Amino acid sequence: MQPWSSVPVPKVPGTARPLRLFDTAAGEVRPVTAGRTARMYVCGITPYDATHLGHAATYLAFDLVHRIWLDNGHDVHYVQNVTDIDDPLLERANRDNEDWVVLAMRETALFREDMEALRVVPPTDYIGAVESIPEIEESVGKLLASGAAYRVDDDEYPDVYFRHSATGRFGYESNYDEATMLELSAERGGDPDRKGKEHPLDALLWRMARDGEPSWESELGPGRPGWHLECSVIALNRLGMGFDVQGGGSDLAFPHHEFSAAHAEALAGDHPFARHYCHAGMIGLDGEKMSKSKGNLVFVSRLRGDRVDPMAIRLALLDGHYRSDRSWTADALTKGTARLARWREAVALEAAPSAEPVVERLRDRLSDDLDTERALLAVDAWVDEALCRRGGEAGAPAAIRDAVDALLGVQL
Ligand code: ZN
Repeated sequence: MQPWSSVPVPKVPGTARPLRLFDTAAGEVRPVTAGRTARMYVCGITPYDATHLGHAATYLAFDLVHRIWLDNGHDVHYVQNVTDIDDPLLERANRDNEDWVVLAMRETALFREDMEALRVVPPTDYIGAVESIPEIEESVGKLLASGAAYRVDDDEYPDVYFRHSATGRFGYESNYDEATMLELSAERGGDPDRKGKEHPLDALLWRMARDGEPSWESELGPGRPGWHLECSVIALNRLGMGFDVQGGGSDLAFPHHEFSAAHAEALAGDHPFARHYCHAGMIGLDGEKMSKSKGNLVFVSRLRGDRVDPMAIRLALLDGHYRSDRSWTADALTKGTARLARWREAVALEAAPSAEPVVERLRDRLSDDLDTERALLAVDAWVDEALCRRGGEAGAPAAIRDAVDALLGVQL
């Protein structure tokens, strides 16, 4: 698939800071030790609905990772998928009596526009599940051949499942006990009660064709791929094993990332899939969890339609730690809008206090597990001083404008 348009990222003078991030598997903040080319995979959308603020917050967090790597002089190989075939997409298309292909294309196009408006640096490879079916099919064949996968005991639909115990390391990514895993699996698209499985946790790799569902011809029999394997294969075939960061929302820590890792590790006979597993918190609305069932989703495209400046949305979402569950409120947007106006006023001045110490602080805060709250305060302090004191260095406003653009992705 075509990713969205590229975003220019200015070079910032001075010394970049190496990135430290919280790793869910290790349970602590630790250095990200990327090579010359930093490698990241972030799970993409299932395009049955528009981008809501929870999605946006997740992609903004990993955009900061991308930007810090660029600041450190890395080339970045960033891969993101689009789950353009899966149950939620088909359920929505059926509900609305719409062609699932049309629905997926429309929502993917809207997502691209939202990402562009929010100035998210695009992935190097933007890959759909449907276009990856040949490589997924081949991987299912390998897993069956190695004994990591099996067909369920069901004559009508002999679907292929993954033995969760195949690598002997299952659970290392999320660190949940089995009871929690079973509970989360049932909540998040798993099928612990599927008859014929060897173990309730085992995950679907290939679903044999059902009446009324799309399917693809394959040596496994006509069918369609399971969600976790899609990400394993897309990542493995482009980034290889041991890439630097696997990212997504905290609801992907289990089962999705646990299984993506286990599938890939079984395929490659190697460990680990990713060296950091990073998860962004959930965004609520006025103190309640934002969810489809509650009907309280706030869409980026709706805000854009209401003429909200995407840079104000970006600032509002960055005004909270990426790992914490937090709430979107009218006040948060008002604060983001006011902050954007003040920052723009300050960088339009002819002279201002020196930019250097602010840029240092910005780098210190962001490289410390993306402490955006304190990074924004560092810029605020400079803006306050610039607006009340007036005068200073002629190059400072432009230097701050570039640093805020490059490191925070906010265009002033
Ligand atoms: Zn994924």
